Amino acid sequence: MLRTTIAGSLPKPEWLAEPNMLWAPWKGSGQALAAAKRDATLLWLKRQEDAGIDIVTDGEQSRQHFVHGFLERIAGIDFDNKVEMGIRNDRYKAMVPVVTGPLRLIDRVHAVEAGVARAHTGRTLKFTLPGPMTLVDTIADTHYGDKVALAMAFADLLNQEARALEADGIDVIQFDEPAFNVYMDEVATWGIRALERAAAGLRCTTAVHICYGYGIKANIDWKGSLGAEWRQYEQIFPVLAASAIDQVSLECRNAKVPLRLLGLLAGKDVLVGVIDVATDVVETPEQVAGVIADALAYVPADRLFPCTNCGMAPMSVDVAAAKLVALGQGTALARQRLGG
Ligand code: ZN
Repeated sequence: MLRTTIAGSLPKPEWLAEPNMLWAPWKGSGQALAAAKRDATLLWLKRQEDAGIDIVTDGEQSRQHFVHGFLERIAGIDFDNKVEMGIRNDRYKAMVPVVTGPLRLIDRVHAVEAGVARAHTGRTLKFTLPGPMTLVDTIADTHYGDKVALAMAFADLLNQEARALEADGIDVIQFDEPAFNVYMDEVATWGIRALERAAAGLRCTTAVHICYGYGIKANIDWKGSLGAEWRQYEQIFPVLAASAIDQVSLECRNAKVPLRLLGLLAGKDVLVGVIDVATDVVETPEQVAGVIADALAYVPADRLFPCTNCGMAPMSVDVAAAKLVALGQGTALARQRLGG
């Protein structure tokens, strides 16, 4: 019970990419860069294991960004003529590539890093992919002309890669769908359908991560505008509870999410965010155990997986490593109290 995991990403060491930023430029190129990505993956696997994380990831050390790491291996996208687009309902502007033709995978997307991670850990291994709705919300389109058609096209490519990752020995495939917390009506009308299509036919565990974003200013400002109670989950959890997805990863620590909303996920594994990624203040084991105890009022212990609120990519390596330790120690404390 209370198996620990993380949302997915971890910071890149400074010899791999510029620290403390999203979209960090790589430090090297060619074979040296490939070797640095491999070494960073091994380093984070070891640190996760040492911290007592039960379900580990590659830390997304081989991709510059959680969305564009996937897009880079797809034909039908123009990366040379990016356009500015408001994303997440205009929360921020980004320069995004453009879909200009039928989408297809050029090749495997994540075979190398999945293989490296699988070869170097015996623990349950999770791999993250962007979800179809979030992809659609992070790219411009002049070909499909319809969000739903574009989402379904992405879902088919995600499914192709997810099945290959399963064959590589990945145990859990998680789709990251922060857009679910922004377009709640569309989740019910097509978002969940696209997500299930991405996960279709997988025999491994499937998960979806839905959060309030990395700890960057645009997200912190947005959270400040959401009022005393954040109720986005209230609308989407019943849809997820009725879906084929096994696990839901969500944000709790320092969030104004009413914990009773977790009760809407009955029958699902719930990855409860007990580590805040928007502050460098490292949680104490007592604080971590406290959030777990609060969540246990709504989620049974065998369904509750202590986790981070979101990815830790933009943080410093030392803070992220300390937060992994806090996650492990706090969960150990919670287990001890449950056992007693
Ligand atoms: Zn997130």
